[in-house]
Amino acid sequence: MSKHRVVLLPGDGIGPEVVGAARRVVEATGLGVEWVPMEMGVVAFEKYGDALPGDVLEEIRRCGVALKGPTTTPIGGGHASANVRLRKELGLFANVRPVKTVPGLERPYGATDLVIVRENTESLYAGLENEVAPGVVTSIKVITEVASRRIAHFAFEYATKWGRHRVTAVHKANIMKKADGLFLACARAEAVAYEGRVHFDDVLVDALAMKLVTNPSQYDVLLLENLYGDIVSDLAAGLIGGLGLAPGANYGLDCAVFEAIHGSAPDIAGKGIANPIAMILSAAMMCHHLGDTDAYVRIRKSVRTVTRDHPDALTPDLGGKGTTRSLADAIIVEVERRRSGSVDD
Ligand code: NAD
Repeated sequence: MSKHRVVLLPGDGIGPEVVGAARRVVEATGLGVEWVPMEMGVVAFEKYGDALPGDVLEEIRRCGVALKGPTTTPIGGGHASANVRLRKELGLFANVRPVKTVPGLERPYGATDLVIVRENTESLYAGLENEVAPGVVTSIKVITEVASRRIAHFAFEYATKWGRHRVTAVHKANIMKKADGLFLACARAEAVAYEGRVHFDDVLVDALAMKLVTNPSQYDVLLLENLYGDIVSDLAAGLIGGLGLAPGANYGLDCAVFEAIHGSAPDIAGKGIANPIAMILSAAMMCHHLGDTDAYVRIRKSVRTVTRDHPDALTPDLGGKGTTRSLADAIIVEVERRRSGSVDD
C-alpha cells in the first residue's frame, strides 16, 4: 500500500520533543506515513537567514499535509512570524481548534466541548503596521467579505459534518461597526442556508470571555476573526487544564497543517517535561484528514484512557511526575492494545 507523504516540521523550543512523541504515536497506529523532515522557525533562521525557507512551502504544497511543532517568534522586533507567513502563503484560511474536557482532568469550570473556528489570514494579523509620526503607530485591521464568507461557510459545513448544532459568531461590532460589522453580516448571510439544521447566534467577544469561564457548556462551535480566535483559544485551553491538551489544524483548499495551539514554551524546552498530548491529538486530526478514522479514534481513546487511569504517567503541567517520553509511551501502549484488538471500548 502506498504511504502518505507528510512534511514533518519539528520547529523549535519544545517542538522537537512533542513532535517526536506524536510521530511515534502515529507510527504505532500502523498508518503508513513517509515523513519528510524539514526545518522551520529559529533553527531555519539561524541556518538560512529565513525562518520559513521556500522549499518548505514547496514541499508542503507537494505533499498536501504537514505535522508542525511550534516556532518561536521574537517579541517587538526581529523576524516576522513564520507561522503567520506559512498560513498566508499556503492559503490555510481555517484554523480549527477543538477543546474538550479530558477524563480524569475535569476542571471546576464544568464540561467543555467547544470547537474554535478561527479565520487565519487577515484581521490585525495582516501585518500592516506603520509609524505615522514619532510616537504614533497605526495597525490596520483588514476584514474582507470574501474571507469572512469563506470562514463562515467553513464553520457551518464543519458543524454539519461533525454533528454540531450551533455556530456562534464572536465579534465587537458595537465598537468596530464596519470591520466586525462586516464579519458578523457575512456570518448571518451564510447562516441562512443552514436554518433548521444549525442554530446561529452571536456574542460580543468580551461577554464571551466571561460566559466561557462561568459556563463553557453553553457553547458549541465558535466562529472568530484571527486575533479573537487566538486569544479565545488559549482561554478555552485553560478551561480544560492548559495548553498541553489543546490540538489544532489549519486547512486550506489544497493543504492542511496540523499543529497544537501552544507555542515553543521556552521556559520548559529541553527539560523533557513538555506535555505531548496536544501535539498527539493534532496528529490524530491529521490521521482523520488522511482518511484513517480508525487511527483517529484509537489515538483519542488511548489518550483518554491514559489521562483517566495512569496519573503517574502525566507530565507536571497536569500534576504528574511523568515526562514527555513516559506519557507518550503510555499512550503508545494503549494504541497498540487497541490495534491488537485486546481492548474493546
Ligand atoms: P507558550 O504556549 O509557548 O507557553 C505558555 C505557557 O504554557 C508556558 O508556561 C509553557 O511552559 C506552557 N506550555 C505550553 N505548551 C506546553 C506543553 N505542551 N506542555 C506543558 N506546558 C506547556 O506561549 P508563549 O510563552 O507566549 O510563547 C512562546 C513562543 O512561542 C513565542 O515566541 C510565541 O511567538 C511562540 N508561539 C508559537 C506558536 C506556533 O508556532 N504555532 C503558537 C503560539 C506561540
